[in-house]
Amino acid sequence: MQFETSQHLYQDAKQFIPGGVNSPVRAFKAVGGTPIFFTHGQGAYIFDVDENSYIDYVGSWGPLILGHANPDVVQAVQTYASQGLSFGAPTAIEVDLAKLIVDIVPAVDMIRMVNSGTEASMSAIRLARGATGRDKIIKFNGCYHGSCDGLLASAGSGLLTLAIPSTPGVPKSYTEETLIAEYNDLEQVKQLFQQYGKEIAAVVLEPVAANMNLILPQEGFLAGLRDLCDEFDTLLIFDEVMTGFRIGLSGAGGHYGITPDLSIFGKIIGGGMPVGAYGGKVELMNHIAPAGEVYQAGTLSGNPVAMAAGLATLMQLQQNNYYHRLTENTGIIVEGLRKAAQKHQVPLHISQFGSMFGFVFTEATEITRFNDVKESNINQFKHFFHALIQQGIYIPPSAFEVCFVSTCHCETEIEKTLSAFEQAIKALG
Ligand code: PLP
Repeated sequence: MQFETSQHLYQDAKQFIPGGVNSPVRAFKAVGGTPIFFTHGQGAYIFDVDENSYIDYVGSWGPLILGHANPDVVQAVQTYASQGLSFGAPTAIEVDLAKLIVDIVPAVDMIRMVNSGTEASMSAIRLARGATGRDKIIKFNGCYHGSCDGLLASAGSGLLTLAIPSTPGVPKSYTEETLIAEYNDLEQVKQLFQQYGKEIAAVVLEPVAANMNLILPQEGFLAGLRDLCDEFDTLLIFDEVMTGFRIGLSGAGGHYGITPDLSIFGKIIGGGMPVGAYGGKVELMNHIAPAGEVYQAGTLSGNPVAMAAGLATLMQLQQNNYYHRLTENTGIIVEGLRKAAQKHQVPLHISQFGSMFGFVFTEATEITRFNDVKESNINQFKHFFHALIQQGIYIPPSAFEVCFVSTCHCETEIEKTLSAFEQAIKALG
């Protein structure tokens, strides 16, 4: 058998898959070079076809908070797979996972399972529009809610901008009802409400923005949104696809003490399998078919094998007190990176939220909105990325993404990471 390298596989893949990948950021376009093809993962490590190993800070873009091939998750998947992959009919494990999430997330009394974060966002927006009888939504510049048409809108310049499609293929009419505001800018949101008031069905946001590197909500921002939504009978939707079960069981909503009307989930709730979900108060969720009139459906929704992976993941998070250690270990990594940057005089801004962290090569001392990241030194990021790859550290191949730490990243991995960070920063200095 021919030994297949990432180079070979990528050349091959490009002939059969657009751009050689099934999701754009995997293509390394933002950093240059050839995407790495992986064979397997174990704990904090991933292994490629070229026989290299890496300490992994991507974790499949968030789901793998318990590391790769977690024994309980693998066991649950094997058990359920052996009983039949899909029924297209109800199974008990869907109810078990729904019950567990309702139990541990205060904002959620009822939940509908879907197959991805994108599907969850799209469905939650439809529900918000159906339940309120209004069409407009407010989203924030730089927040990502999946690749659904109406949410692929970026901000134009100035205040109160109507969205323009940010990708060919999305008709203008699909995003006309999407109003854009800057993240952390409550004043802009107020102005949108003053102009469009009771036409606005929902305000949707990542309560901690993790798709424009990592931007934390400023004091009063989430509470201010909650107040505005209450004043105008608009629904507040937290997209917790990244943040759900990341810092604690109750997500960013619980962490900041703000209760959204709807929450969107994905990633961790599927434990590495394709799962998304949206949930909220009973009277709102009962608008969804077949209980209500807002239609949403899926052949593989609530798939038992996927539910098994999610349940095994959430049960371990519920039963073990992992979050304190996860946050502490991430803090050690962040502090080490900060010290290395200071020592070698490389301007770097670092943020942390539980076991997620992000860093931006910039002189700025505050990062509060999308442009702060866009205007950073992306070239330095590229060099840093490749210097880490050379040393066996795999971080997301884009300056706009965040790093994820798992329960398997322990002392040895952290030490190796910090030494690699120091070398990579030194090379920039
Ligand atoms: N919402 C947020 C906050 C995300 O980060 C993502 C994906 O990264 C999505 C939604 C879309 O999820 P998916 O890629 O599962 O469709």
